[in-house]
Amino acid sequence: MAAITTEVAIIGAGPSGSIAAYQLATAGLGVVLLDRAKFPRDKPCGGGVTVRCERILPFSIDPVIEDVITGADIRIRNESSVLQSSGSVLTYMTQRSRFDAFLADKAQEAGANFRDSEQVTDILSRSGDGFRVHTRSGTEIRAQVLLGADGANGITGNRLGFDSHSAGAVALEGNVYFPDGVPREFEHKVILNFGYLTQGYGWIFPKSDHINIGVGGSRSSGGKRLKAAMNKLAEIYGIAYDSITEIKGHHLPMRHHDSAISIDGAALLGDAAGLVDPLSGEGIFAALRSGMAVAPIVEQYLASEVDSLTGYQLELQKELIPEIETSEALMQIFHTYPRPFVWMLQHVGLFWIGAIELIRGDSTYLDLTNKFGKLGRSLLMPAAWLGKIISARRRN
Ligand SMILES: Cc1cc2nc3c(=O)[nH]c(=O)nc-3n(C[C@H](O)[C@H](O)[C@H](O)COP(=O)(O)OP(=O)(O)OC[C@H]3O[C@@H](n4cnc5c(N)ncnc54)[C@H](O)[C@@H]3O)c2cc1C
Repeated sequence: MAAITTEVAIIGAGPSGSIAAYQLATAGLGVVLLDRAKFPRDKPCGGGVTVRCERILPFSIDPVIEDVITGADIRIRNESSVLQSSGSVLTYMTQRSRFDAFLADKAQEAGANFRDSEQVTDILSRSGDGFRVHTRSGTEIRAQVLLGADGANGITGNRLGFDSHSAGAVALEGNVYFPDGVPREFEHKVILNFGYLTQGYGWIFPKSDHINIGVGGSRSSGGKRLKAAMNKLAEIYGIAYDSITEIKGHHLPMRHHDSAISIDGAALLGDAAGLVDPLSGEGIFAALRSGMAVAPIVEQYLASEVDSLTGYQLELQKELIPEIETSEALMQIFHTYPRPFVWMLQHVGLFWIGAIELIRGDSTYLDLTNKFGKLGRSLLMPAAWLGKIISARRRN
């Protein structure tokens, strides 16, 4: 068996793994970045990259931006739609095949040893001063630090005994190509449609030569309901269902409260740690944020300044994890009866401005709940709990 010895092995070259690899290689550490897929590879995703992602990245992502979004067309089912403008950039659109390959290239340029088509089949528990990772091609990677960035269905969490997440939501997405260019009615805006799925929504996101159409909802939605909702969405916006290609389903992980995502020499990043925003389904920001947060702690660990990576989890507990927990509570409230919230998004200027600030990352969910004062904050969790019960009853 061929063997490679390195300081850090990262399993998965999605946004979380590649940005961690970039940061660590830039700091001069030996990094092996493994992905089972041959790159460039696609990943079921709407490809919406928010302004806050761009803000935290140490380089520009302009080369892989395909549309700049400045408005949202919001509707409930097939009722009349309202187009809201954001007055500035609301979010960017990319294709994951391009975005992820771009990030992996950046990691490689920084000095990481990126090995695609290299599926990890086994992780041997700590031996001596590190981990031994086996791949399908018969290579053994020996590393002092192991980062699991292998997504919602990855094996790292399970092999290392973490219990970080379970399937929180399911989604279906596909593409419609326009050889003569994306029609004007889809350009520069996101289409958001509510009401066809429990705890979810439908979307249409524009790219340079196609649109991405998708639906996502609670995991009880199941394949049949997702397909029916996608059909409805296509019908409402004048898209022939047969013209949707590359249809893929996937689940979005939901973090288990209080679960550990780091131990002495190992940590989970991004989806592998269940770090998705439950209300919006946005996961790229948390993937990038976690990859960037872990890097300085790994440096300290390898320099024997700390004896575990728990500082990484503590860093995320300052903001990202409370944000995800608040988002989950808001999601339960919003989706119990979305109509008044959607109406406010459509018609109440201040509510829409608040939503823009949240999406752009100019404010946080915690800022939002703080606006309702102490009483509002203390009612949040009971209201979410009530919402959860009502939604479960409705589903049954
Ligand atoms: C339908 C859908 C739409 C979405 N839309 C958006 C959106 O518009 N905006 C947004 O911000 N988020 C969106 N998300 C969420 C987002 O896609 C994820 O949160 C994000 O991809 C997480 O990044 P990651 O790096 O943690 O994992 P991933 O991007 O999933 O990367 C994991 C990588 O690990 C590799 N891997 C897995 N197992 C192994 C193994 N055994 N060995 C080697 N490699 C392995 C995989 O090949 C993959 O490349 C969406 C999700 C879904 C399902």
